[in-house]
Amino acid sequence: MDTLDVLIVGAGFAGLRALHTFRGIGEKVLVIEASDGIGGVWYHNGYPGARCDVESYDYSYSFSPELEQEWRWSERYATQPEILRYIEHVADRFDLRKDILLNTRMASAVFDEAAERWTVTSQDGRQWSAKHLVLCLGQLSTTKAPAYPGQESFKGRIIHSGVWPKDKVDYTGKRVAIIGTGSSGMQMTPVIAREAAHLTVFQRTANYSIPAANAPVTDEEDKAVKANYAERRLQARNSPTGLGFKPNRVSALDAPPEEREKVYEAAWNRWGFGFALAYFDILLSKPANDTAADFIRRRIAAKIEKPDLREKLVPKDHAFAARRPSVDSGYFEAFNRDNVELADLREAPIVAFTANGIRTAAKDHSFDIVIFATGFDAFTGSLLKPDIVGRGGVTLKEKWAAGPVSQLGVGVHGFPNMHIVCGPGSPSLLSNVMVSIEEQIDWFSRLVRTMREKGLSTFEAEEEAERAWVAHVNERAKETLYLTADSYYNGAEVAGKPRVFMPYSGGVRGYRRILERSEAEGYPGFKLSPKTGSATRAPAA
Ligand code: NAP
Repeated sequence: MDTLDVLIVGAGFAGLRALHTFRGIGEKVLVIEASDGIGGVWYHNGYPGARCDVESYDYSYSFSPELEQEWRWSERYATQPEILRYIEHVADRFDLRKDILLNTRMASAVFDEAAERWTVTSQDGRQWSAKHLVLCLGQLSTTKAPAYPGQESFKGRIIHSGVWPKDKVDYTGKRVAIIGTGSSGMQMTPVIAREAAHLTVFQRTANYSIPAANAPVTDEEDKAVKANYAERRLQARNSPTGLGFKPNRVSALDAPPEEREKVYEAAWNRWGFGFALAYFDILLSKPANDTAADFIRRRIAAKIEKPDLREKLVPKDHAFAARRPSVDSGYFEAFNRDNVELADLREAPIVAFTANGIRTAAKDHSFDIVIFATGFDAFTGSLLKPDIVGRGGVTLKEKWAAGPVSQLGVGVHGFPNMHIVCGPGSPSLLSNVMVSIEEQIDWFSRLVRTMREKGLSTFEAEEEAERAWVAHVNERAKETLYLTADSYYNGAEVAGKPRVFMPYSGGVRGYRRILERSEAEGYPGFKLSPKTGSATRAPAA
């Protein structure tokens, strides 16, 4: 059995950053990755039209000024292939590949209480012993798909957006179905519409979307960003979402209607997600949100030529951004094409698959390809797939049976030296995850170094602190409109999943300050113990 200081699980953006950082502080590190390639979600989500909803210059690593200067993004919102090229470049540039084992899926991680180490076993039986277990498993990496009666009898091809095949899928002359209208479905719709003979989009819930305003990055823009990159990063880290947008301090309800219209117009034309910060109370007050939702509905409606489709495609049943909105490039316009059809699942649900396609309560559709853009078991799906066994044989599944609990979103009582990156209880999917990933990993690495320097063996969340943090996460969520809609933020995306609000909605700046304070005060709410097992609170770092 190989002995390591740090075992990292997952070779996506988080895992690669963790490898570089822990290696940098002199730890013996290994990354294990289930897939046959690096890149995590950006390796798997190769569907047509896949691109990032966050601007390229912000959705990238900030740890190396040289990397920042040498990488040249070609578009404001990078496509999946370009992001993957960036990830590959980073892996080569920092010589990361030699410490990554591909095709290695973690089956279990068991905390050995006597040795105070994790024993990790892969599905094919290899084992490692590690002092620290760093989980970089992603928040949207366990796909979820409905199972319809007759699905196995379908003669065509079924593909999930989140595990897109590596061979080229040819739509020419084909009849294609997309089930799901979240970001994935919305991004692929206009691209597939241009290639397929016929496309049917099955919609259950109409979704808000802001136009991406994508454009090639000019040399002048590239130069301007690179001349002030540090400042841009600082602004991102100090903004609520990590995207760099400062919330307008004015209430949407106090702005005169003509002025508000102009503000929304500017946000619509350029800001993407930043639209939600056009006024500070859009996500806090329903009347304020109504003004934004009304603007967006009007703009969406104006794009759709057919009145009956307009009625169906304009979102109505939830507040703007209470569920994750999309940033699209021609989604609504695609429905103006003759070869694109909308199947409203609220009107006529899917009854079954047939050999030739899909039967709804209204009619039989025939298809060659059916795409499930039905999303993921978010936040906890990938953390609960392997058997993670803590003190006393308690599994993480048991510990989180009623929903995830943690201290500050980073540590779990009963699971010493287990570090969760971008997990529940942290800003995670409510933020530019690149900012959240880097800040948490830097915090973890300083903690691990402190432990080493002080001769401490374990770091473990205290139960009381966990309860307080979960209560705080819920208090912050109650200040917002996030609880007014069913979404993957609150476990509604999977039947039977505990209905608890998972991400921390207090913003990345607020969250960073909490982490920094914790570090400065000697990690209250965590027990740091020397090897003997006699627990003592570590002195302030
Ligand atoms: P999603 O947002 O969870 O959307 C899933 C869609 O499938 C929803 O429209 C949902 O309808 C529908 N659906 C689920 N189960 C269904 C069923 N049984 N029958 C019919 N419809 C069903 O998933 P996603 O679009 O893959 O996006 C997930 C997240 O990934 C995004 O929110 C985003 O965070 C991330 N993402 C990011 C980017 C990017 O930055 N570029 C791109 C894609 C995805 P309901 O709404 O009615 O549940």
